[in-house]
This record gives sequence, structure tokens and C-alpha cells, in this order.
Amino acid sequence: MKRRHFIKSASLLGLAFSAFPNNLLASNRISCELLIGKGAPALYGNGYKLLLEAHEAFLEMKAEALKEGINIKAVSSYRDFEHQKRIWNRKYNLFTSQGMPETEAINAIIEYSTIPGTSRHHWGTDLDIIDANAVQPKGDVLLAEHFEVQGAFHKLKQWMDANANRFGFFLVYTNNPSRKGFKYEPWHYSYKPLSKQYLESYKNLDLFEILKNEHLAGNDFLTPELIATYKREHLLDINPELLR
Ligand SMILES: [Zn+2]
Repeated sequence: MKRRHFIKSASLLGLAFSAFPNNLLASNRISCELLIGKGAPALYGNGYKLLLEAHEAFLEMKAEALKEGINIKAVSSYRDFEHQKRIWNRKYNLFTSQGMPETEAINAIIEYSTIPGTSRHHWGTDLDIIDANAVQPKGDVLLAEHFEVQGAFHKLKQWMDANANRFGFFLVYTNNPSRKGFKYEPWHYSYKPLSKQYLESYKNLDLFEILKNEHLAGNDFLTPELIATYKREHLLDINPELLR
């Protein structure tokens, strides 16, 4: 991480200044509000929203990919709690209105969508990308098939496989068949130098306590057991590169 960027992002995050970035990894100084999408982080980007350092790294990566004719475009980045709550409530109400039992509806939603307050998109460190130079597929652009051989974004995928890590970006939900939690998302990348710190702090939150007062659709079915499993499988069973 560039020193200049570290100091800027540290102060933007409201972190106490530390001469040793490693101290931050062991500390828990990112506020609960910032972790669950209820803070007011300073966000940057033209057509997307990321924390400053992630934004600058993204621009560097984008410029490099452009030399190969790939136009990396963020289609989703920062989302706040209320945005995620709207997605959650819409899906829950849709599924249960079709006759799906409550817990089944929750399990169907969490194949791809997060419980509000638990999205990595709340942090300003994660984003979903496509190649704007490719012939765009019809319908939903964020489907795994578009990133496979012959898919519109396969060239982007190959370039990211070879280059993303050196800019600090890592795939979160890999296609490792033994991984639990969210399905494979070849479009979702995280800026590790910041998100590692967020995850370290996040691990200490009492999610059940936080969520029970939020009046989410299906609230009564978000039991301590369900939340504990969700935390273990959906939030922590991710690309191991983001955990070390
Ligand atoms: Zn995403």
C-alpha cells in the first residue's frame, strides 16, 4: 500500500493515526456504523462509489486493462444499509407471496444477496465489474456464464485472473466447489488492503443483536443459529487470500 494513501484513508475512516499500519490489522477501530452501511464514508468515483484508496487503485488497474482493449466498468460498488434492505424486503415478500416457507425464502435470498448490514458492498472496498467494450449480453449481465469461455466477459476474466491481485483486488466468492456460502461470483472483487481491516473488525460484531432491531422482513426467522451459520459460511468462507 502506498504510504500517502494509507494516511489519507486512515484519517477518512476516522481511524486513530498509527505509524505502523500492521497495528490497524490487530485493532478494532472501524465503527459499527461504517461496517454495516450506516456510516457516511467519503466516497469517490465517476459512476461508482469507493473509498479513496480503492478508487485510486481501481483507476490504475482500469488504465492498465485498457491497453489490452478491456474497459473495466463498475456496475455496483458502495451500497448503504437502506439500499440492501430494499433488495432484501422485495425478495422476501416476493418469495413468501409465492407460497415459499419463510426459512426457505431466506435461504433462497442468501444464495446471492446479503442480509442488510452484512454486505461487503457496505464498506466501499468491493465492486462488481464487467467489460464495457464487450458486446453486452441481453438481460442480467452478472451471470457466471458470461465470464466463462465464449462468454462476453471471458477476456476480462482472463485479464483479471492474471493481473487483479497486483493492484490489490481479489475475487471474493470463488468457484472452489468445497466453499460454502454465496454462489460463485466472477464479477465481485474486493480491494484487500482496506477490506481486510474491515473484515477483521466485522468479525467482532454481534450480528444477531444488531439485526433484531432492524425490522427486516422475516425478522422472526433470523434466529441466532441461522445468523451464526450465515456468518461462518457466507461471510467467512471466502477466498482465503482475503483472510490472511
Ligand atoms: Zn457484488
